[in-house]
Amino acid sequence: MSVKVRFAPSPTGKLHVGNVRTALVNWLFAKGQGGQFVLRIDDTDLARSTPEFEQGIEDDLTWLGMLWDERHNQSKRFDRYEAAADLLKASGRLYPAYETGEELDRRRKVQLARGLPPIYDRAALALTDAEKAAYEAEGRKPHWRFKLDHGRVAWEDLARGHCEVDTASMSDPVLIREDGLFLYTLPSVVDDMDMAITHVIRGEDHVTNTGAQIEIFEALAKCGWEGATPGFAHMPLLVGSDGAALSKRLGSLSISDMRDQGYEPIAITSHLGRIGTSDPLEVGTSVEALGESFAFAKMGRSPARYDTADLDRLNAQALHVMSYETAQPRLAALGVDLGEAFWTVVRANLQKFADVVEMAAIVQGPVMPVIEDAAFAEAALALLPQVIDETAWATWTAAIKEQTGAKGKALFMPLRLMLTGQPHGPDMAAMAPLIGRDRIVARLKGDGAA
Ligand code: GLU
Repeated sequence: MSVKVRFAPSPTGKLHVGNVRTALVNWLFAKGQGGQFVLRIDDTDLARSTPEFEQGIEDDLTWLGMLWDERHNQSKRFDRYEAAADLLKASGRLYPAYETGEELDRRRKVQLARGLPPIYDRAALALTDAEKAAYEAEGRKPHWRFKLDHGRVAWEDLARGHCEVDTASMSDPVLIREDGLFLYTLPSVVDDMDMAITHVIRGEDHVTNTGAQIEIFEALAKCGWEGATPGFAHMPLLVGSDGAALSKRLGSLSISDMRDQGYEPIAITSHLGRIGTSDPLEVGTSVEALGESFAFAKMGRSPARYDTADLDRLNAQALHVMSYETAQPRLAALGVDLGEAFWTVVRANLQKFADVVEMAAIVQGPVMPVIEDAAFAEAALALLPQVIDETAWATWTAAIKEQTGAKGKALFMPLRLMLTGQPHGPDMAAMAPLIGRDRIVARLKGDGAA
């Protein structure tokens, strides 16, 4: 069986690390075994969905390297949802209810006061045709509830193992609102059947929902709707580095913000694809390679810890191994393509790609030299080799050491400060030939323009 999964985001906001992790695990699971990934825009809520958010979703997935094989908009498939709803109505599984939100609230309060679970009492099932007609005459429109089987629904979850949900403890879910809006529950099932989705992979906050949806899959199949019930995987939720649920903070962790902050896509996909699994939290070579090593068996049951410090570390790792060929167009775009030797030296010092601009300034100047000891600067200048090649630094520093007696930090720090104006930075032996003799001389003389 060839695997086919879907990612079904609502275009009502920006993608954040939480929903991208869901998308990514779907993508890795499918692509790791040559399967298909469907992007399904869950835009049945026409009032809250926007084309800008939809475009943002596509841009983010593309940037992360998670391309899709098929793409659908639920807003273009209302005829399918109507057809499914008609079948369910005809079979008695979808029934009209007329209670207002206030009435339902009041009933819930009474139930709670009596120590009963606040489950919908199915009063609407007992309505006679005359009573329904009276409501309609009053101007009330029905919402439509799915009549659950009130039994145990069981499935073998790829991430959680054996799962059971007792639908007797649930209210019959509303599938269609009084204004005619299809809530996500039914369209999702119809699409999963129509698109031959083999696995539904999502967060564990959907477990109860899955119980109801499996009953809907089965009810539709019984009515003759083509398609099968997919398998399921419910992933543990993301928590922050403090162990607290991330759900409330997710809004501030959007992928577009992370792109603006200079994170590498592979750092984000490595982080989100590997947290909460037994794989080491190291950067992958590509999102495809992450897919090859992905397995639900590696996923633990405890929450996955999202930590910006880990992301920063992976981001630096990604840069430290980035080839010149990959970096070159980006260097050129920043106006700092100083050649392969430059890239190979400085990449080890980068936290974010844009740090390279600072490194280029060390080479090209101007640098404000920090000279703490004029005599030392003069001695160093006198001993500077004529040719600054790869071996010049070793020869030069050995000569300075011999003449001044300075060694270790006392030798190297003043040289770094004079040549770069900073106490930290890339390997000086490799930087010296890039800086070149003229600039070194000028900086040793304290020339702030060199
Ligand atoms: N749009 C739904 C959500 O984002 C999709 C859930 C699902 O994967 O079935 O929660």
